Amino acid sequence: MPIYEYQCQTCQHRFTKLWRTMTQAEEAVVPSCPQCGSEDTLRVISNVAVLDSLGGMTPSEQGAMRQIAEKEASILPKSKIDEFRAAKKKGQKDAS
Ligand SMILES: [Zn+2]
Repeated sequence: MPIYEYQCQTCQHRFTKLWRTMTQAEEAVVPSCPQCGSEDTLRVISNVAVLDSLGGMTPSEQGAMRQIAEKEASILPKSKIDEFRAAKKKGQKDAS
């Protein structure tokens, strides 16, 4: 199960979220901050999760894993999140 780390842009609180599947993690909306409730959170590289998964790997495999983790962390820029939220808002408006 993928563990993703998020950082709240409002209070800078960092937290992790465990997703049931990779698909769910990729498609889900970013979670709101458990500390201040703000939805202005960004996904960041989870060093803990990455390091945990590196056990038993060769150095070159570890390097590849880190590259994947860095790529993963960069695929959800704030503009994309805003886009998603705007689309979601529009959908709610149309439904009512
Ligand atoms: Zn917060």
